[in-house]
Amino acid sequence: MTAGMAVIAYIEKEVIQLLKGIGASDGIGIGRVMIIAEQTLEYTPRQIADVDAELERYRDAVDKFCDNTIEQAENIRKSAGDKEAEILEGHIAIIRDPFMGGEIENLIKAQQCAEAAVEQICKMFIDMFSATGDDLTMQRATDVKDIRDGLLAILLGIQEIKISDAPAGTVLVTKELTPSMTAGINKENIVGIVTETGSQTSHSAILARALEIPAVLSVPNAVTQLSSGEQVIVDGKSGDVLTAPTAEQVEEYSNKRDAFLRERRELENYRGKPTVSASGEEYELFCNIGTPKDATKAIEADGEGVGLFRTEFLFMDRNQLPTEDEQFEAYKQASLILKGEPLIIRTLDIGGDKDIPYLGLAKEENPFMGFRAIRYCLKNRDMFKSQIKAILRASAFGDIRIMFPLITAVEELRAGKELVEEAKNDLRASNIEFDENIQVGVMTETAASSVIADLLAEEADFFSIGTNDLTGYTMAADRGNSDVAYLYSPFQPSVLRSICRIIRCGRDKGISVGMCGEAAANPMMIPLLISFGLTEFSVSAPSVLRVRKNIAKWTKTEADAVANKVMSMATEAEIVAYLESIV
Ligand code: PEP
Ligand code: MG
Repeated sequence: MTAGMAVIAYIEKEVIQLLKGIGASDGIGIGRVMIIAEQTLEYTPRQIADVDAELERYRDAVDKFCDNTIEQAENIRKSAGDKEAEILEGHIAIIRDPFMGGEIENLIKAQQCAEAAVEQICKMFIDMFSATGDDLTMQRATDVKDIRDGLLAILLGIQEIKISDAPAGTVLVTKELTPSMTAGINKENIVGIVTETGSQTSHSAILARALEIPAVLSVPNAVTQLSSGEQVIVDGKSGDVLTAPTAEQVEEYSNKRDAFLRERRELENYRGKPTVSASGEEYELFCNIGTPKDATKAIEADGEGVGLFRTEFLFMDRNQLPTEDEQFEAYKQASLILKGEPLIIRTLDIGGDKDIPYLGLAKEENPFMGFRAIRYCLKNRDMFKSQIKAILRASAFGDIRIMFPLITAVEELRAGKELVEEAKNDLRASNIEFDENIQVGVMTETAASSVIADLLAEEADFFSIGTNDLTGYTMAADRGNSDVAYLYSPFQPSVLRSICRIIRCGRDKGISVGMCGEAAANPMMIPLLISFGLTEFSVSAPSVLRVRKNIAKWTKTEADAVANKVMSMATEAEIVAYLESIV
């Protein structure tokens, strides 16, 4: 029987020029490859006679495994942080889990040797987790593989290779970067990571980002295509791995690396500072999140609140609607993490590109223009009311605001607000606390909402511009269709006029106007938004400091001059060329 384990291998390979993967941790690494290949952990399964002695051998191995893991977690706590250490500490919880441990011990009691028992039960869990197709659960499979290899190595008395001994300038190349491998990384010496598996959200990616090591994941056959000792360039943004680079390429990428590191250091100067233009106007700089835990990322990124909580996640990856209590807990958790900073919760935005199979939405000719978002919610009042009640209940714990997606008519806003009032009455009748003055806003992301922005502004407490959809609906161009990608641009004159109109209409009525679409983080868009009078920017967590820096570049007068020029231009190409020349 065999299982995999990390060792360093030196194998001759043919020369290839460029490997492509997923850029999962930004930055450039230039160094020499160290292949961490799999070694077989071989043993012969045997029937054991002394069950008690075998159980003791197994339990000793578990104790040793947990001791090693605690030590590794301590190392990674120092180099990467608490959250990263917790990933490893999770391994202890898994192996100490009475169910898993109990199943392994049952096999030993049935006279299987400890190695076979560990392998069999771990395989059961790995197969089960891998079959789900869900990113998060599939990571559990990686954790169990890591546990299996660690336990087998201890039972077989095999010394684990120490990645901590890797020399300076090493690019680690491995099939799968396990948390225990990462724990051995000395970030002074490892300049890049390349793996054959993993995604943006896998543990390897999270750990690589926490260690600030450029990483490219999911490179097919990286281990067999690369050779230990060869020079490579790892571009953690584009996902490129360049092999046998020329002197010019090394120079070009060294310059890129230095510029990246300079910018990272420079951006740190904006941490903890207010978001303010060069002429002193202050802005709110929020983050977009998808789960309550992402609120932690928003805080770590120095966001000043959350401008868009996409609540769809609570409804996805399950077979039935979340209860009001489940939703309440999630919204409350996010709010508590934000410690009183604003949290704008968008009500369910399903349909279009966001499918939730158990809701049984009928197939439509044109789902983006169909029965979705606020339209679906207003027709499914019980479900909608339970979400609104959950949000209201959570509003007793922080500064929570409600936002309706895809509003196209004033009646929709009114109907939504009526439901909020009904929900408030229900809560009052049950003596449940909530924020009586909770704000109810509109996500302006359709051509209709822009055209009637003056009317909506009379009845909404705030606007937030969703440029991702606004661009699509204004240009009649699907954001995912490459054939019409040339039209899908927020710099189209029609979209810019739309954005400008929404902001002006909102400001005329004295309500705040934010932007939570991707365009809010675009450096070319920022002077225009300053000039139009946007009050709040909501961007992804990694963009926060860069947006703060870009806002600080402009005085209102300079921004006005840019906007005047742009708004007189007739084509997107002209606008983009001009903006590129000035930012
Ligand atoms: C938008 O449409 O701009 C937006 C932020 O929402 P989503 O991307 O979730 O549709
Ligand atoms: Mg949208």
